[in-house]
Amino acid sequence: MDSLVSLSKRRGFVYPASDIYGGLANSWDYGPLGSIMKENIKNEWLKEFVFSRDDMILIDSAIIQNSSVWDASGHLTKFSDPMVECLDCHKRFRADNLIEDKLGIDVDGRSAEEIDKIINENNIKCPITAGVLSQVKNFNLMFNTKLGPVDVSSDTVYLRPETCQGIFTNFDNIIKSTRLKLPFGVAQIGKSFRNEITPGNFIFRTLEFEQMEIEYFTKEDNADKDFEYWLNLFEEWYKKIGIKKENLKKVELNETQRAHYSKRTVDIYFNYPFGFKELQSFANRSDYDLTSHSNLSGKKLHYFDEESKTNIVPFVIEPSVGLGRLFLAILSNGYKEEIIGNDKRIVLSLSHRIAPYQLAIFPLIGKDEKINNISQNLYSNLRWKYRCTYDSTGSIGKRYRRQDEIGTPLCITIDNDSSIDNTVTIRDRDSMEQVRVNIDNINEYIDKCFL
Ligand code: ATP
Repeated sequence: MDSLVSLSKRRGFVYPASDIYGGLANSWDYGPLGSIMKENIKNEWLKEFVFSRDDMILIDSAIIQNSSVWDASGHLTKFSDPMVECLDCHKRFRADNLIEDKLGIDVDGRSAEEIDKIINENNIKCPITAGVLSQVKNFNLMFNTKLGPVDVSSDTVYLRPETCQGIFTNFDNIIKSTRLKLPFGVAQIGKSFRNEITPGNFIFRTLEFEQMEIEYFTKEDNADKDFEYWLNLFEEWYKKIGIKKENLKKVELNETQRAHYSKRTVDIYFNYPFGFKELQSFANRSDYDLTSHSNLSGKKLHYFDEESKTNIVPFVIEPSVGLGRLFLAILSNGYKEEIIGNDKRIVLSLSHRIAPYQLAIFPLIGKDEKINNISQNLYSNLRWKYRCTYDSTGSIGKRYRRQDEIGTPLCITIDNDSSIDNTVTIRDRDSMEQVRVNIDNINEYIDKCFL
């Protein structure tokens, strides 16, 4: 993990937020390479699950919604984690995590009283000072703020803790404006906010994060089948973007562990440097959200089923993944240290779909006019189709190492022979093999590498 954090800062993937002021605990900024990589992940997700399908659409709803949204969704009363405070150092901890660390039991879904009993019976103490812990209290994770200049309680609004509610509240608008037929899905990518008691592990658990969520509306009878379908689809996608199968595992949640709205939940865990932890969650949210919003708003959120000639409330299958957690999984999945001769080589084996740059173009001798012209021409042409970077400084060995570290799959070197026989050297990041390719065939060659 230290290597990933240090590489991220050194090469501009992720910086500590407010760095010049000593940072702000567990807040991170994405740097130049991190920002490109984040966009690449989003684009791959959109291509795979939205733009290549007729049954999917995309929306972008507001972060701050009418507070009734969080009343109907259950977040105002139920979105909390059990918290304890050390009576000596006054640090706060998630009681469920302390129990899991000490006893290996998952207490998700148990009441504060039950969790308190487990803490007392097993003599669980503060992990820092070994001091006595306070009684367990449920702590609501939603950030709130005031709307307008007057500081009165009626103006309290919340930063959304999940993006999907904006999809449910727009259900009727979407049906009317698109005339979509069941089954169909609505996708959204956007920021969510949670006042986590114990954020940490770099970008794994943060206070603000981006979610990529899909709400797939389907008939109740098809919900189980569609759940499996989406689970398989994502497993295939993870393979496609280069995540090794052995780094993923599925965890089925039992009834007490599931959120209040869920009829079935399967989490996908990734093998992070700190162990297997949740990357993504799949839930069958049933008709819970549409029904709750209908009841509270008085606006019917249903769908007219031509077959049965009745109004039905569809069930919803939700694959939801945090962008930061996927970003960290991809970094960790691709990070390798190798010894080559007397040198250490750091390589990020990123898929060409995700790597910030796909090609690096090197003029062997930066000051040679002929070499420079060919290199610049190639760079100007290739950058319209591929993500390219140009590096004319330092030895070729050093340039390769710089690109290996940021995951660039192919490096193209232009040398003296290039002006004679119109060929360049293309070097593969993972195998380090080099081949000579004619410039006229370069697109064809690259496309074959990027299948
Ligand atoms: P956890 O159990 O780890 O707190 P969760 O089950 O509460 O996560 P969900 O509500 O299912 O998470 O949210 C869907 C996805 O959003 C998660 O699988 C994760 O990828 C991401 N996510 C949730 N909370 C955070 C967070 N604080 N920081 C970064 N990503 C998050």
